[in-house]
Amino acid sequence: MNIVDETFGVKTGRRCEMVDITGQVAGIVKTSGITAGDCIVYCPHTTAAITINENADPDVVHDMLMTLEELLPQDRRGYRHNEGNSDAHVKSSLVGPTQQILINNGRLSLGTWQGIYFCEFDGPRSRRVTVQIRGK
Ligand code: ZN
Repeated sequence: MNIVDETFGVKTGRRCEMVDITGQVAGIVKTSGITAGDCIVYCPHTTAAITINENADPDVVHDMLMTLEELLPQDRRGYRHNEGNSDAHVKSSLVGPTQQILINNGRLSLGTWQGIYFCEFDGPRSRRVTVQIRGK
């Protein structure tokens, strides 16, 4: 089994935003030369996350962010954490810091309408995404 580790940066431009990183991850898979295995995409931040969802209709991203904001407004009363970003910490844990995608025939086995997203919940910031590819 071979293991390839890569990190790349993501610059976000808004407080809450979903950045499509499918192309960067697919590029790392291609360069790795690994044709069968799996790919782990990890977000090493406490107010951001990684998810997989539709990347065909941008309204899906809009609706997801709108729903998260309704469920977890930034100005919710009762938060104690004094940075003012408790909503972002909760969103990060709800969405989760990692995704795992199978690699078949040298490609990510995503569905037709699926893309990999870096989810920013406390931007704008400079962020990192780490990717590990394991296989043969
Ligand atoms: Zn905080």
